[in-house]
Amino acid sequence: MKLHEYQSKQLFAKYGVPIPNGRVAATAAEAKQIAEELGGRVVIKSQVLVGGRGKAGGIRLAKNPEEAEDLATAILGMEIKGLPVRKVLVDQAANIDNEIYLGITNDRAARKPVLMGSAAGGVEIEEVARETPEKIVRVHIDPLLGLRDYQARDIAAGIDLPRDHWRTFGQICKSLWQAYNASDATLAEINPLVITDENHIIAVDGKMLVDDNALFRHPDLAEMRDLDAEASSEIEARKYGLSYIKLDGNIGCMVNGAGLAMTTMDIIKLFGGEPANFLDIGGGAGAEKVAAALRIILSDPNVKAVLFNVFGGITRGDEVAHGVLAALEEEKPLIPMVTRLVGTRAEEGRKILADANMITAETLAEAAQKAVAAAKGEAVRCAS
Ligand code: GDP
Ligand code: MN
Repeated sequence: MKLHEYQSKQLFAKYGVPIPNGRVAATAAEAKQIAEELGGRVVIKSQVLVGGRGKAGGIRLAKNPEEAEDLATAILGMEIKGLPVRKVLVDQAANIDNEIYLGITNDRAARKPVLMGSAAGGVEIEEVARETPEKIVRVHIDPLLGLRDYQARDIAAGIDLPRDHWRTFGQICKSLWQAYNASDATLAEINPLVITDENHIIAVDGKMLVDDNALFRHPDLAEMRDLDAEASSEIEARKYGLSYIKLDGNIGCMVNGAGLAMTTMDIIKLFGGEPANFLDIGGGAGAEKVAAALRIILSDPNVKAVLFNVFGGITRGDEVAHGVLAALEEEKPLIPMVTRLVGTRAEEGRKILADANMITAETLAEAAQKAVAAAKGEAVRCAS
């Protein structure tokens, strides 16, 4: 789950990271009022769940409350990378001398969190990693020991931070680590962490990703989820306990089991097709869940064919078939559907589906080939 900038910064602040004074607003009038309360220059920041808002015109400095109101009006009417701006953060503007990057994420290869710093802050870190990787300094954090003081100092030295900031910088690194660790985050990022002309260090931007699988023990964080900012298909999928990720291809996939779902995607690619999604309906999925999954797959206008790949273990083939039929009844899709059903009572299931005019297949390879052909508009026949 992604958190908005204002949410991430509030969380960072709770653990001791200095952030600018400011508040979030949903209307230009509110933004004006906040600017009046803060006094002086403010920055109006679009709250959308994408990076690069600055370049897109979604971050603007205002000299006075009137200008804050005008800029908030403009920004609240914007769409950034396809996402409508519904809120703006009004922050006291910082006079920036220097922009630093500071972030923590999981390094899967090292099986540890990694703290990264760079003197090339403000720019997206992916860009720095691509063009000037030597400018990123890293230390791995032992999750049992936590971040040690010397590690933060290593980063400070590695990015040539002036000595007089090391102490504060070390505290900020520790606070960021605590925020990351306590929230079960997969990313906690400050870009930029700035040094102001008054020689203060302050987190001007904030970004956090929280592991969805840990949200059950963070009801306060789960509550922060902004449904407005997420794809409706993914919200729907979550409601039914489906693991769904939308992709760019045209073959919708409905599979039970994450491993089987990945295999299905691989084999579609092997035969020259492109999966439209990853979808794991899970074990023992009933008709209602199957119908919801199909509805979600079909809501993607790119989908030209659907491939059901179900392995009946605990789930019985005939039950799945009835679920699929119920879903078809409800959805009445006009695109070809290919099914491959194996395992417990698969034969019965296949018969039910073939009688309903679905394209059936005996093996996964055959099913994938048929789905690829069907998505291209070629005529495909049932297995006998
Ligand atoms: P992003 O573009 O989505 O990463 O949004 P940021 O919050 O990082 O803002 C982008 C850039 O705007 C920063 O790198 C700064 O250069 C600038 N910026 C943001 N806040 C302030 C501020 O308070 N004062 C000044 N002078 N510049 C700011
Ligand atoms: Mn930023």
